[in-house]
Amino acid sequence: MPAAQNFELPQTVRDSNLFDLDPDAHIALGRLNAAVTGTWGGTLRDFGAWVAGPVDRQAEYTDRHAPPRLIPYDGDGRLANRILYNPAWETASREVYARGIVGLNYGPGGAPYLTTFAMGYMLSQADVSLHCPVTMTGAVAYVLDRFAPAGVKERFLPQLIRRDGEALSGGTWATELHGGSDIGATTTSASSIEGEPGVFRLNGLKWFTSNANGGLALATARPDDGVAGTRGLGVYLVPTHLAGGASNPMRIRRLKDKLGTCGIATGEIDLVDTLGWEVAGPPRGFKLMMAALEFSRIHNAMAAVGVARRAWLEAAIFATGRTAFGHTITDYPMVQAELMKVLAPQLAGMHLAFAAAHAFDEASSIDVDDTDNPRRVWLRVLTALAKYWTADMCVKAASRAIETIGGNGYVYDHVTPRLLRDGQVLSVWEGPANIQALELLRLLEPRFGGFRMFEEAVEHLLADGETASKAAGADIVSPLHALLAHAREAAGLMAASPDLAGRHARRLLALMSDLMAAAFMVDAAAQSDGRRRALIARFFVEHCLESSQGWRITASPDWLAPHFGSIIRHRSID
Ligand SMILES: Cc1cc2nc3c(=O)[nH]c(=O)nc-3n(C[C@H](O)[C@H](O)[C@H](O)COP(=O)(O)OP(=O)(O)OC[C@H]3O[C@@H](n4cnc5c(N)ncnc54)[C@H](O)[C@@H]3O)c2cc1C
Repeated sequence: MPAAQNFELPQTVRDSNLFDLDPDAHIALGRLNAAVTGTWGGTLRDFGAWVAGPVDRQAEYTDRHAPPRLIPYDGDGRLANRILYNPAWETASREVYARGIVGLNYGPGGAPYLTTFAMGYMLSQADVSLHCPVTMTGAVAYVLDRFAPAGVKERFLPQLIRRDGEALSGGTWATELHGGSDIGATTTSASSIEGEPGVFRLNGLKWFTSNANGGLALATARPDDGVAGTRGLGVYLVPTHLAGGASNPMRIRRLKDKLGTCGIATGEIDLVDTLGWEVAGPPRGFKLMMAALEFSRIHNAMAAVGVARRAWLEAAIFATGRTAFGHTITDYPMVQAELMKVLAPQLAGMHLAFAAAHAFDEASSIDVDDTDNPRRVWLRVLTALAKYWTADMCVKAASRAIETIGGNGYVYDHVTPRLLRDGQVLSVWEGPANIQALELLRLLEPRFGGFRMFEEAVEHLLADGETASKAAGADIVSPLHALLAHAREAAGLMAASPDLAGRHARRLLALMSDLMAAAFMVDAAAQSDGRRRALIARFFVEHCLESSQGWRITASPDWLAPHFGSIIRHRSID
């Protein structure tokens, strides 16, 4: 479909084509990397049709009627560790890898990662549960390809990137009973095996393991001589099955009974002398797990904007066909405003997520030890902003879509309840908001120069803001310059005071991600034909920026901390 062509909303998303339906995404992808919509455009279009048809049907069926089940023991009482998926899920799972959502990035003439991230964006419009293992498979493949010892890479990588329908899928096992954010407190141990260099026995409990029996998982563990904290961690590749087909010893204790993403099994796994192949010992092990997480966080952002996109489509399709009091409800300004509060943030989030994916392409060949490399710093800054902002946005989008559709949007005849349940996890896994805020703080240290990069990027995107303002019929740039000035002042205050940094990092994250998202909207408006994008940008700047709602980051003393304990314990405060 030519980018600027007019089109009608379909009657249903099911059996449409998610690629053809999304001209704004085409333009954004093509501007970042022309090959994605050129060379790989046909692949994306086929994928968009497949996702809107068979995958969407499968997702509804699996979520409502046939989620995975654990078969802990076989008929002879032996440990089985089997997870039973329904046949529709198994077919879709085989096909998603055969279509190249991981494999396309490897081999001669491999696609840019932006292509497969864009596939993730479409996939999550139908099924976040299938997108989850795809994310981890991509993360494991990336780490093996770029960082694993040759023997480990040669042995295991081909099993993840093959496209014949027999690919294994991946997992990333970091979270333990004590928590997922504080990975430095990992208690799983790794003991070397005499006569088998590079192979370790792992023992410990991994408390959240999505895609529990996928085939090849990266696990953090501390070698016997490893020091405390993250510096003492190694990362190991743990196959579910060993050569010859025997199970790698481990025990899936149970599957989590979850709010959402019910289509994918999330287990608790006891590692009991489980064999793991060293990908990196300490101190590099933790860095490689973080590299896997960086990749996953971008897919997380893709999933969030995918959920929001589906929410928008469902709400817009419903509302344009709904009559109340003799009028189509989209005639009512309040309905128009609610729909715009889904559309505009979705588009802004899409730009953020795509930009992070493009930054990944630009930085993916740089070693994780090259921490000061500007391309790696910029990737990490954008990833933190995109991961936080899109996850927060997508739950609001799903919630607004339900409200706009009304009662029908709350019941399972519509996809919207699942969008809300599935979307909620995106703010939790791969690092909650506060953890993204701490990541951002690190990158703002003078050594990394993250704020300067951010400022330059925003200024660059706003450079043609006058054109956008003219088309929008209002000055949409000055409010952003004012926010940028505040962000600069706030970052300065926080750099000078660890206390302020600890209190306000999340607010700074919100402020900077709002600004970045808005700057992308202004830039897209300035670059586009016609006034449509400028009007959406205007709506976004005027109504969707949380950080322009009056709160400011100041150096005022912390009045809350001294009283917090009394407040939550209902003690009187004199
Ligand atoms: C459905 C599902 C599937 C999952 N699958 C996997 C998986 O496959 N592999 C895996 O490893 N993990 C997985 N997880 C775990 C997930 O990554 C963790 O839930 C997440 O990292 C947060 O860890 P936690 O839940 O232990 O919370 P905690 O780390 O205990 O954090 C609790 C809260 O404290 C805040 N917090 C923590 N430290 C600080 C600080 N220093 N400053 C300010 N605030 C702080 C956090 O932001 C959070 O809000 C999964 C989780 C879910 C829900």
